[in-house]
Amino acid sequence: MHEMGICDGILKSATEAAEAEGASCINRIEVTFGELTQIVEDALQFAFEVLRQDTIAADATLGITILEARSRCMDCSAEFRHDRYEVKCPKCGSYLCSLLQGRELRIESIDVD
Ligand SMILES: [Zn+2]
Repeated sequence: MHEMGICDGILKSATEAAEAEGASCINRIEVTFGELTQIVEDALQFAFEVLRQDTIAADATLGITILEARSRCMDCSAEFRHDRYEVKCPKCGSYLCSLLQGRELRIESIDVD
């Protein structure tokens, strides 16, 4: 379950940012990840509930936004959604595609007191 390590990184970054602002506790953390990261939303929530204990985010909630995988065809410029197994243009059948989104992993915002 790689969500534990990912969540640990999110919590560390959020805690550092909150402490840099002189905050005493974190109320909410909003994260965005692309579906190609293979993060499982429920597993990330579970990891957060375990790892937030004994941190300044102990009462924080985790907001998750998932971005679908999208690519643009290099041959016909069509933009399309796809899964992680096959990236193929639905319009012309080309496999020459460039990824637009789907591998992101970032903290969007942190709400602190
Ligand atoms: Zn195409």
